[in-house]
Amino acid sequence: MISDLPLTVKSKLPHSGTTIFSVMSALANEYRAINLSQGFPNFESSAELISLVTQYMQKGYNQYAPMQGVMLLREAIAEKMERLYGAKYNPESEINITSGGTQAIYTAITAVIREGDEVIVLEPAYDCYAPAILLNGGIPVYVSLKQPDYHIDWAEVQKAITPRTRMIMINTPHNPSGAVMQEKDMRELERITRDTDIMILSDEVYEHLVFDGREHRGIACYPSLAERSFVIYSFGKTYHNTGWKMGYCLAPVSLMSEFRKVHQYLVFSSNTPVQYALADYMKNNRDYTGLNKFYEEKRDFFLGKIKNSRFKFSPAPGSYFQLLDYSGITSEGDFDFAVRLTKEHGVASVPVSAFYHHPADNKLLRFCFAKTEETLEKAAERLCRI
Ligand code: GLN
Repeated sequence: MISDLPLTVKSKLPHSGTTIFSVMSALANEYRAINLSQGFPNFESSAELISLVTQYMQKGYNQYAPMQGVMLLREAIAEKMERLYGAKYNPESEINITSGGTQAIYTAITAVIREGDEVIVLEPAYDCYAPAILLNGGIPVYVSLKQPDYHIDWAEVQKAITPRTRMIMINTPHNPSGAVMQEKDMRELERITRDTDIMILSDEVYEHLVFDGREHRGIACYPSLAERSFVIYSFGKTYHNTGWKMGYCLAPVSLMSEFRKVHQYLVFSSNTPVQYALADYMKNNRDYTGLNKFYEEKRDFFLGKIKNSRFKFSPAPGSYFQLLDYSGITSEGDFDFAVRLTKEHGVASVPVSAFYHHPADNKLLRFCFAKTEETLEKAAERLCRI
């Protein structure tokens, strides 16, 4: 070990430790537990897509991609946005490929949030939002989603708006609850932001994971919202390859030009062969409806197997996460219970309090069901024994 210089580093994120997803995955590995904590599939991405990446590597597509992303991929995204959502994004100036959703979120916030700017964050919130705001000198202003279905109380959002509000962050389908925003939510957001200079950052990485006949109607479906929004998507969630760290951001020119100023210095560009491969793959795979069914079946399989357990739940409307209420089992705090569940029962999950900035304890754990039936069945058996 290198001896430490007598330096004092004043942390820029004094209240952050290691992200809960790394903590729980590491604990799962240490105790050889079934890992339903960090959100990632334990099955393979398409063989065709993997082979396309290999082919592009072998053909020599191994140097920097354009800063904005490979044009063919941006065109494929523009085509998808128009076909699925009736939205027109110019691939030249309004679409940027990123190294995952998290990078896109950080970049967008860094591009527009200054010292003292307030950003409304709906809690529980994915854990990278607040640090990105804080590192830029912004102030997260928290508004709680309402139990039991995690809906947005728009009157509270309205109340949280001040002259310093620069941005509202939304996430649909929502991590960790799986809640899906409705048409009426989008209308409220339109009403609240009309005639203001408030921007929106919409995290829609689970766009294709909506269940029970629901539809994803994100920002892009509403021109008056799209004109003030960064919208963030993820290839990893759609194509089962979260480790490739690929995503994209859509925004009108005025926002995208600022986004690019930061992106070019933060990462410059994203993985080249993967971008070419995704562009080809998207051309031949335009139907995303199978994905809803695929994950809905996984959710139902998992819930079917734990229906006689002591956990309580209502089926997640979207995303690949299911919240389970363990209040009938123990009064332990959710972090302690998640740790004990991993160590003693061999199933890792994420305590929902990790998605709050203040100590919260709703007796809820989040389980990722993006797993094979075999894994889900084994995990369910263990959960039923508790
Ligand atoms: N989005 C994934 C989740 O919620 C985790 C990604 C990460 O670990 N940064 O579990």
